Amino acid sequence: MEHRLVNLCTMLAKPKETVSDAEQISRLRASQSPIAISLSRCPKWSSLDPLQFKGYWDNEVMGILLNNGSTAYFTFESEVKPILRGGPLLGEYIFEQMHFHWSVDNFSGCEHLLDGQGYAAECHFVHYNSKYESMEAAVGHSDGLAVVGFLLEAVDAPNPRFDKLVQGLEVIKKSEHSVRVTSESLAWMESDDLQEGNYVTYKGSLTTPPYTECVTWIIYEKPIQVGNEQLGLLRELQGPDSIPIERNVRPTQRHPPGHSVIYVKQVHEAKNLKSKL
Ligand SMILES: [Zn+2]
Repeated sequence: MEHRLVNLCTMLAKPKETVSDAEQISRLRASQSPIAISLSRCPKWSSLDPLQFKGYWDNEVMGILLNNGSTAYFTFESEVKPILRGGPLLGEYIFEQMHFHWSVDNFSGCEHLLDGQGYAAECHFVHYNSKYESMEAAVGHSDGLAVVGFLLEAVDAPNPRFDKLVQGLEVIKKSEHSVRVTSESLAWMESDDLQEGNYVTYKGSLTTPPYTECVTWIIYEKPIQVGNEQLGLLRELQGPDSIPIERNVRPTQRHPPGHSVIYVKQVHEAKNLKSKL
């Protein structure tokens, strides 16, 4: 009898299939976004593939920075777009646009909250899954979009890596105004933290209408420091009524039962190994 029990336990412990970390994340239940995240309550994973950003700040292509009346909105002019892969993502995601959220002060301008901490602004890099024809087609699928979010912390000293973007913001104060900018406008995102920094990931939604639950969110834990005056330029952008856009942040949403957020510790060794492949 004892012998049979041991055999049964061995059988139960054996996984029926090998499921990758990214596959497990793709099967998580989605929630509305943004959410308040308590890092200590998140399962911690360190075995995911490193995130890989290709062709963002270092290509020769020009981009357009537009004041669309609700945010500053960056797109590339070229058909060749940056590619994001790795981490919690299955397959490749194509960069579509980058935009900002902000508010009236330096603590309520971010959409996501990590351990209750608010920041001056949040920047979103929106990508769509390359297996779909377009951004519009991708929004209809639970694996349609991947959005990388950076929290922006206000500090006294300007961040020189934001200079190119700031030059663009200075000439698009009026709604529907736009300016051609170089890919250097994205230079501020490049850092060791991009490859090695910790982030949280979860299945969520767009934070603007129609709030579709089609997004794999990747939010970096460490905020990027930006000068007070540089952040002030976001708050000077005007809406269609020629009044500065005060606030374009969606409040945090309730977690549904069984919803999971994964806290990912990126591993340095894993990056070196993968870059050789
Ligand atoms: Zn956004």
